[in-house]
Amino acid sequence: MSTEKIPTKFRKRFGQHFLKDIGIIENIVASINLGEIDHVIEIGPGLGALTQKILESNCQLDAIEIDRDLAKRLNERFSCSKNFKLHIADALHYDYKANKAGGKTMRVVGNLPYNISTQLIFKLFDTIDSFADMHFMLQLEVVKRLTAARGEKSWGRLAIHAQYHCEVEHLFNVPPSAFTPRPKVQSAVVRLTPHLQKPFEEVDLHILRDTTRLAFSQRRKTLRNNLKSVIDVSKLRDIDINPDARAEALEINQFVKLAKLIHES
Ligand code: SAM
Repeated sequence: MSTEKIPTKFRKRFGQHFLKDIGIIENIVASINLGEIDHVIEIGPGLGALTQKILESNCQLDAIEIDRDLAKRLNERFSCSKNFKLHIADALHYDYKANKAGGKTMRVVGNLPYNISTQLIFKLFDTIDSFADMHFMLQLEVVKRLTAARGEKSWGRLAIHAQYHCEVEHLFNVPPSAFTPRPKVQSAVVRLTPHLQKPFEEVDLHILRDTTRLAFSQRRKTLRNNLKSVIDVSKLRDIDINPDARAEALEINQFVKLAKLIHES
């Protein structure tokens, strides 16, 4: 079990579930495989369960924590380390690009607050070229939505955007007993590695996002229905998309084509 004393009060609004299982903590940090040349951004360090292990690799670590009480404890514990810098900030509004030190690409790590995890992942996609990779602890259900293939139940916007940018690997599952307080759901660790050779055509990310949002706005309805406000749906056939299909039937490259068509029209 982790050595830091866990508080008796938890801030539910900050999605606080602290890792206490030292075996799991070691597995996560071993999967990241850090070295002293690395620059790590840790989102939501909490009481420092992962932070402690990350710092043992002598990498440079910038940690972003929103809870001021935890930030105080983190500073007391780690400010003696010259490699540690704490940012008391909201990770959803943090300027990741500004933190890129000496042109090094950053490695992002976090046992994420589950209530904001998908929003946060979408935010990180905005500056994906600044990151070498990202390792997250998430709800197992979210990991399934990140790794899903077309045709699977979990296939949707999250898989499309994640796989447009990254290779996504489900590393291992983590039971509720690894945390205090216990979450009600199973968790899992996932690795996202931005594609070095981009497998899809470049497209304006905001337009791609709006396109998938609209296409999936009513999941049971056809593209003809969901897209009629933004495009002459007869044009869908020109890019080999059946207007009577549902969004879930499309591959990522078809969403890219669709986004371009919407952009041009
Ligand atoms: N890393 C610690 C661990 O594994 O034990 C804590 C993980 S806990 C699931 C999530 C952490 O993220 C908490 O410390 C919480 O205060 C912090 N947090 C929640 N919302 C945040 C936000 N918007 N920006 C930065 N940190 C946030």
